[in-house]
Parts: sequence; structure tokens; C-alpha cells
Amino acid sequence: MAGAPTLQMFDSGTLGLGGVEVPVPFFLIRHAQGNVLVDGGNPLAVARDPHAHWGALADHFTVHMTEEQHCAAQLRRLGVESESVGYVVQTHLHIDHTGALGHFANATIVVHARELQAARAAQDPISSGYVREDYDRRDLRWQLVEGELDLFGDGTIRLLQTAGHSAGHMSLLLELEETGPVLLTADAADNRAQWEGREHPRALFSREQARRSLELLRELAQRTDALLVLGHEPDDWAQLRRAPAHYA
Ligand SMILES: [Zn+2]
Repeated sequence: MAGAPTLQMFDSGTLGLGGVEVPVPFFLIRHAQGNVLVDGGNPLAVARDPHAHWGALADHFTVHMTEEQHCAAQLRRLGVESESVGYVVQTHLHIDHTGALGHFANATIVVHARELQAARAAQDPISSGYVREDYDRRDLRWQLVEGELDLFGDGTIRLLQTAGHSAGHMSLLLELEETGPVLLTADAADNRAQWEGREHPRALFSREQARRSLELLRELAQRTDALLVLGHEPDDWAQLRRAPAHYA
């Protein structure tokens, strides 16, 4: 069908996490009702000077990112104007997901109400994973989600509540015409070891909620046979079709 949505996968470079280089993904969904960005990878400031933006967090994560890997630069190279992005869906507001904020003037920023509340209340970046400068901005137009949301009401972009990793974490279930269902777990499951139950999910908010969210996602993946895209899994990432290629 002409006008059916497409999905493109990008990364804004990698982070050194416990000796492993993990991708920092973001996603573009081109939909008849507008371009939707899912997360934005690392903020631009991090490509310039990680310590200036992240403070002591930059000692925990080694950033490998150039300015050209920032989400706005990558979209521009594909001919996607920043004005054309109507929505930025934030799976959550941790430091390596906020790169889009402040770069897409026409975008409504979709986030779970509890996520924004938790981020605004956070004191310490190290324990919370939030850096206030990313989201505490007057120029952002928020759309707060409570419960689940079918973004355009056509079943192509469903936002799922998967709290635990963070207070209001969301994963996405997409429905593409050729590919079928695609499950973007985001950080509800970082990697295969977590997905397969060999490691606990990384729970900065609630270990119990993270465990339940992961269970829900596993059931969903099994039921729908969705293409699985985990939050930061290097081996899977190398196998997935990345931009400029796309999934239709
Ligand atoms: Zn996170």
C-alpha cells in the first residue's frame, strides 16, 4: 500500500559499558501522518565534550560519537528536514536517549507522565540516569502518556508501558506491511543475556517492575513473532538493517 509506514534504524555511535561497546540506537518511522523519531541517541553536546555535559557519568561510560552521528545530522544527510519531524517518542529520558530534544521545532515530545515526573524530580545523575539540561527546557511541547497509546489510532505505532528500568519507561510495538510486527524493547531489555534471563534487566527504578515488564515483552514477542530490537545489543545490531536501508 502506498503510504504504509517504514522504519529506519540508526545509532549515534557507541558507549563503552563494562568493557563492551554497545550501540546507542534511535529510529525514524515515516508515516502518512508525519515523521516520528523514537529517541534521539546521545545529545550533540556529548560529541563535543562528554564531561561538560554528563559530568561524572562520563567516567562510567566511554563515549564514541562524532557530531555527524547526532540524530539531526544523520536525518539531514538522508534528506529528512528537521521541520518534518512531527513527533519524538521518548522511550525514557536517560542520558543516551535524549539527543533529539531541542532539535525538532515542530515536534510534539511524547513521553510517559511518570517518566517526566521522575526526571524532573531527580537529583543525582549517577543514580537516576537523568541529566536535567536535556529535558528541562522551555522550548519543548510535551504530550504525556498514561497507560498505553496507539499513536495514530491505526495500530502501526503502539506505545507499551514497560516500567522498571526507569519510572515511566515505554517500549514500542510497530506493525509494518511487509516486515510485520517489530518490537522495540528499548532499555526494558538491553541485550540477549537479559532477554534470555541469564542476566537481570538493568533496573534503575524498580527491579520487580523491570522483571514484570520483561516478562510481558517476552510473551508479546512470542505471540506476535515480532522482529526483536533490543536496547543496546551489539551482535543483534550488526545483523539488523540499518539506515539508509529501511524496513517496510
Ligand atoms: Zn536507560
